[in-house]
Amino acid sequence: MYFKDIPGKEREKHFLLSNAQEDRLAHAQLFLGRTGSGQLPLALAFASYILCTDRNESDSCGTCSACLKSHKFIHPDVHFSFPVVKKDGKNRNETTSNDFLVEWRQILKKNPFLDIKTWLHSLNLENGQANINVKECTEIVKKLGLKTFESDYKVLIMWMPEYLRNEGNRLLKLIEEPPENTIILLVAEKQDAILNTILSRVQLLKVHPFTYEDVKSYLIENYEHPDQDTDQIAALAAGNMNSAIHLTEQDSVNYSDALFQWLRESYKMEPVELSKWVNEMAKWGRENQKNFLEYGLHFFREYLFSLTTNRNSVRLNEYEQSIAQKMTSLLDISKTEQIIHILNECMGAVERNANPKILFLADSLAIGRVMRNMHVGENIYQV
Ligand SMILES: [Zn+2]
Repeated sequence: MYFKDIPGKEREKHFLLSNAQEDRLAHAQLFLGRTGSGQLPLALAFASYILCTDRNESDSCGTCSACLKSHKFIHPDVHFSFPVVKKDGKNRNETTSNDFLVEWRQILKKNPFLDIKTWLHSLNLENGQANINVKECTEIVKKLGLKTFESDYKVLIMWMPEYLRNEGNRLLKLIEEPPENTIILLVAEKQDAILNTILSRVQLLKVHPFTYEDVKSYLIENYEHPDQDTDQIAALAAGNMNSAIHLTEQDSVNYSDALFQWLRESYKMEPVELSKWVNEMAKWGRENQKNFLEYGLHFFREYLFSLTTNRNSVRLNEYEQSIAQKMTSLLDISKTEQIIHILNECMGAVERNANPKILFLADSLAIGRVMRNMHVGENIYQV
């Protein structure tokens, strides 16, 4: 993994690069950030950078013998530890990360921004109780006690130390006084799920969520497909690159067309057409309904922004901006806030498993009433 393959993150990259260049490597570091913020790719890029024998100011070279291995995640001095479940044919307490290294390397190549759900899903083990067990901790102590194989340093990347639970205490001594030339990189999402005794022994690097522009540029470079709307996906992902990658893999759904049609039908309140739309939405399934509502919230927040500032929102594409402009005669700030409120409530109801037909019909009528209060009897909503 190269630093240049991770969009944005200038502050985090600068911190890591300058520490390595000035030989100020902390023995144990915690890369902490919300799900999908890129803490694991940063740790991977950092490990390659530390081991690279021909690194430059901003990245590892990619061609030295260390890079050839570390970039494929097969360097013998880079050890991985991560939550696992029972391996077929083995007892759970005998299963460790080593048993899943092949799958681990595959997913890192495919999506290094993964979360625990993505990881377990890739193993077809969504329902497994993942953890990092006693045997794993014993093996880590053993591995890091060995001499390095090829490089000056050995690196342990432990992903999701949240899953250590009390076993983490077995690693305290190691984290406090690692063997010579050993760097421990913990990569986590939830600070309060990590043992305090570990937290107090590590150098903390806070990894901020990706910006909208970061996500968009990454998608354009790696995933763009003609019928997918990168603006829409970047907005929906809300800084979580793992979500963005999943959205690109879903069947392309045009949320903006569905939203604008919803507003039209809600405004017209024509029963046959409206129930057709509602029945269609009911078939979408919960995840897609949530994405749709998330998109609606994004659109109206940006619309509200342009109403209050009199500027076009840069987070809406041209098509959305043209719709937004047509809406200004119909939806003022107060009406927009009411619609945002309805969408928020609707999102909560979808999450609580409400009946989608009843829910979306009721909310269509609510939105229709908000819209019509302003222009009763006029059918100006034609986009
Ligand atoms: Zn290199």
